Amino acid sequence: MGHESELSHEGERMISAPSPEKEKSKRLAGKVAVVTGSSRGIGRAIAKALAAEGAVMAVHYCRGRDSADEVAKDFERAGNKVAVFQADCSRPEECHRLLEQVARQLGKVEILVNNAGINRDRSIRKMSAAEWDEVVHTNLNSVFHCTKAVLEPMIARGWGRIINIASIIGQTGAFGQANYAAAKAGVIAFTKSVAQELARYGITVNAICPGFVDTDMISNMPAAAKEAVKSRIPLGRFGDADEVARLVRFLCTEGDWITGAQLNINGGQFM
Ligand code: NAD
Repeated sequence: MGHESELSHEGERMISAPSPEKEKSKRLAGKVAVVTGSSRGIGRAIAKALAAEGAVMAVHYCRGRDSADEVAKDFERAGNKVAVFQADCSRPEECHRLLEQVARQLGKVEILVNNAGINRDRSIRKMSAAEWDEVVHTNLNSVFHCTKAVLEPMIARGWGRIINIASIIGQTGAFGQANYAAAKAGVIAFTKSVAQELARYGITVNAICPGFVDTDMISNMPAAAKEAVKSRIPLGRFGDADEVARLVRFLCTEGDWITGAQLNINGGQFM
């Protein structure tokens, strides 16, 4: 899997056909879901949780096609319809191209999980404008552009779920993370505003604010810093990506009366 020769001219590839019998009993059967940054980490776990409920999955990656293909292959084995898409979400035109391709290839987008994100930590005295911009473009502007790109068809269908992966850092701020904190706080405020605008069309918009979750994003943290953080978490440990994924699944399957929420999942670190 994953060879360029298998790509269509749009940089996307359908991997498998649906299995209607298997999908019937599942709560998201036939719903098309896009999770940005779903080739690894929290995004991967979210895609897995939605796929397990029968969603038609658009697996998206920025770099690292092989892991995206691996994720897609797993879904395919489980009988899901799935396709893989590449895009750099720090660029507005790529967000729009991504969502247009998904809609064209999979028919529609009903669930959008804005998960793609980066950190470029540095104290404000040392932070460059480029580091500020990169984080704001990837973590905040992408949420605006991806949402815009799915909006009108979602309104026309009268149903949609938009879930934005924010962060505890957007609620508390953090030393060395002015760019990341500002972007994530922006995501939370964006969520509340758009939720008010879209409720009348059957679209819910929520933000999930994870605390520290063991993924590549925090793999470079020094061990001592990790221990210091853990000591401030009442439940005494970092979270698991699957725990965040279960919350996303809940919002998509049972959270019909939840919108504009910022849902904490942080072991009690911020209440
Ligand atoms: P990760 O580094 O494993 O995953 C980040 C994902 O974003 C990857 O799939 C990557 O391909 C994608 N991505 C990065 N830049 C991109 C770009 N320009 N275009 C498209 N995709 C891009 O980290 P993670 O922990 O899985 O992070 C997922 C989300 O969860 C992020 O938004 C992150 O801010 C948020 N989050 C993480 C933690 C944590 O402790 N790990 C805590 C709170 C919030």
